[in-house]
Amino acid sequence: MRDEQPAAAPADAWTIRRVLGWTAQHFEKKQIDSPRLTAEVLLAHVLGCDRIRLYVDLDRPLSKQELAAYRGLIERRVQGEPTAYLTGTRDFYGRAFRVDARVLIPRPETELLVEAILRHIPKDAPARLLDLCSGSGCVAVTFAAERPQASVWATDLSGDACAVARENAEALGVGARVTIRTGDLFEPLPPDARFDAIAANPPYIPSAEIPGLMIEVRKEPLLALDGGEDGLRVIRRIVAGARDRLKPGGVLAIEITEHQGEAVAQLFGAAGFEAVRVEKDLARLDRLVVGTAPQAG
Ligand code: GLN
Repeated sequence: MRDEQPAAAPADAWTIRRVLGWTAQHFEKKQIDSPRLTAEVLLAHVLGCDRIRLYVDLDRPLSKQELAAYRGLIERRVQGEPTAYLTGTRDFYGRAFRVDARVLIPRPETELLVEAILRHIPKDAPARLLDLCSGSGCVAVTFAAERPQASVWATDLSGDACAVARENAEALGVGARVTIRTGDLFEPLPPDARFDAIAANPPYIPSAEIPGLMIEVRKEPLLALDGGEDGLRVIRRIVAGARDRLKPGGVLAIEITEHQGEAVAQLFGAAGFEAVRVEKDLARLDRLVVGTAPQAG
């Protein structure tokens, strides 16, 4: 009987196991966040599989082409490109959104903005919702997906961002109920359009803080980040314009960064909003201001 060896990869082959181990260490040395997870996400992307599959196939050697493609991504990640731009996708509220350098990458904190609005909108209400500074469209598209009778408008100053949002609306099957327009805040809306709720994740970082942001964030569009001297430049204009665009009792919710809660709540109050509250994120930092337009009469 011949002494047959199983078709094991030679000990020095670049198997999935070995490649992941090496990359995780390399990322750790380079102080990349979540080194092992990042290595896995990028490798799964190159191999066109999900992360679980990597563990099923730990001893599979990579081809030359796969290795070359993976090396390219590792290099770009070490240079500061965010993982989501490298894979072209980021999950938000349970759905995969296409992203690239034209748009801000959806953050988990922004799911709180979505929830603050959805709480006020019954599941089957034929509500009209507006998302300002819509970027990738993650908020507007999630509204449409979570409220199947709603019609949603989204505006953004960046035509590039609107193109990405349109792709996402189509890909997630809500293209017919999400109207996306390029322009400044309320300006692209039909003059008589009134909404049950308005959400915004505007640029709110004070300009002076931009150079100190993590390199990954500095790869994102400045237009989506820079909120002017005190970070409130766009927020002020949203609060000032929102009353005229809301139905009586309609809700306005704006994402903010820590230390802006009090100032923005004051803006809401001065504009006549009621039941104004500041909500915190999981890190217990101010993250949202929510208020209600007065009932008619
Ligand atoms: N949340 C983003 C950050 O942490 C900022 C997004 C914004 O300005 N709207 O960098």
